[in-house]
Amino acid sequence: MTDGKVLLEVQNLKQYFPIKGGILGRTVNYVRAVDDISFVVREGEVLSLVGESGCGKSTTGRSLMRLEKPNGGQAFFNGVDLFKLSKRELRNLRGDIQIIFQDPYASLNPRRTVYQTIDEAMTIQKIGERANRRRDVAEVLQAVGIGEHQMDLYPHQFSGGQRQRIGIARALSVKPKLIICDEAVSALDVSIQAQVLNLLMDLQRRFKLTYIFISHDLGVVRHISDKIVVMYLGEIVEVSDQKALFNTPGHPYTYTLLTSIPSTNLDEKKERIILTGDVPSPVNPPAGCRFHTRCPWAYERCSVEKPSFYQLGDAQSVACHLLQDGRVDFKNLPFENKATKE
Ligand code: SF4
Repeated sequence: MTDGKVLLEVQNLKQYFPIKGGILGRTVNYVRAVDDISFVVREGEVLSLVGESGCGKSTTGRSLMRLEKPNGGQAFFNGVDLFKLSKRELRNLRGDIQIIFQDPYASLNPRRTVYQTIDEAMTIQKIGERANRRRDVAEVLQAVGIGEHQMDLYPHQFSGGQRQRIGIARALSVKPKLIICDEAVSALDVSIQAQVLNLLMDLQRRFKLTYIFISHDLGVVRHISDKIVVMYLGEIVEVSDQKALFNTPGHPYTYTLLTSIPSTNLDEKKERIILTGDVPSPVNPPAGCRFHTRCPWAYERCSVEKPSFYQLGDAQSVACHLLQDGRVDFKNLPFENKATKE
């Protein structure tokens, strides 16, 4: 983990979506997409939010961008609470926090050339001089591997990987302090994924950027992350530095996610644990530990009592009763038949 100053502090973030019902269309319940989560991002750090689809990681990113209106909590960015800003104040701050989406084609205007797209972003954020704009746009495109001669082309004239590079250039052009990468490489072919990941890592070092990297794939975040936050059903279950998480995962859910990463070593005999059953509904999440309906190591306490966080060394904290009950080595605990071992 880096020891830079705190750039973003999220406290007790809640993002619920109302479910309407009845003739009057009243709110009858809520989807608890993000339920009381807290974490800290330091300057120059890459913090990854991971978990299966529906765990709330992308909603967290959208809430921080104020693309959704949070139901509770605070998010202090350089000491300023993002959730209390007026629309005007938020517009002024937009340049500092940028987001890169999964689908670069949907996030680029098909009727604007690359130059027009980046020019618009720079004009809104009052970056640079108008007279130097073509030079500035060429520079930022060069940083992401797109040639100056391509700046007057339209999005459909590029490949998926190139379009994602243009999305990155647009984010970079306004000189952000924090970039939220929301499944930024998930839609790309595996070989292109690696290129775009390398580019993001390169830019992060070069421009001293801070990333929140959102992905469903622990294999993807492995090399880019300093710190990893694992989410399950709207809650955080483990926060760990990269090394500790991959060497000694502390939460059963993290462990099962890790065993599902394909190995490139053909000689390695890896125990795979495939979780059975669907992720429960975030409308009525299970009582106690939300993972207990699928956890192979669940025992009586898990379905009645919500686990609090337990510190495992300086850089790792885990919400699981096993640790508090002294059953630390969960890998050697008896399995229940809720998961399939391969
Ligand atoms: Fe599994 Fe219980 Fe730990 Fe939850 S608290 S992860 S159900 S062992």
